[in-house]
Amino acid sequence: MATDKQQGGSRAAPPFSARHLDITAFAEAGARLADETVLSHYLRLADVVQDGDQMTPVRWQTQGSMVPVLGGSPEIWLELEAEAELPMQCQRCLEPMRQRLEVSRRFRFVQDEATAEMLDDELEDDVLVISRDFDLQALIEDELLMELPVAPRHEVCPQAPRMQVQTADFREEEAEKPNPFAALEALKKPKS
Ligand SMILES: [Zn+2]
Repeated sequence: MATDKQQGGSRAAPPFSARHLDITAFAEAGARLADETVLSHYLRLADVVQDGDQMTPVRWQTQGSMVPVLGGSPEIWLELEAEAELPMQCQRCLEPMRQRLEVSRRFRFVQDEATAEMLDDELEDDVLVISRDFDLQALIEDELLMELPVAPRHEVCPQAPRMQVQTADFREEEAEKPNPFAALEALKKPKS
């Protein structure tokens, strides 16, 4: 008769939500959030892969931290990693393919827009404004969308025209067979 609720009673509700993240509190706690949800939860991304597999997993994790600054207030940072393999159509052979997207970024959070703009020019990392209700999931989606290639393509198309077949397997097979061109060359050789 045990229910899921009775697991030691230590199951506190997660204090941070990806949709409504209190950035300062998250960083002060040095907290970490991670999740794996399906593509259909990311409407804009899902839109890119029309007719694709909406159950494709999207994984991410983020870590907040306060970085001490000598003689100043500590900086607020958030590290983000996200990944997904989206079902797409290869723009070369028009066959389905999986486009791997990987995000690994750091964001610094500051008090206001003016500071953010100023620092954004100086820093390589992105600078965002602190919020008590930050939509981390939207940020994750933004970052993944930015990783999308304009024209996704297989690294090596499985159904390329014969002369250009280049899959690893095929190449191995080819290597074992006598080269047809070599045979042709032999035929063309003038008889001596
Ligand atoms: Zn292709």
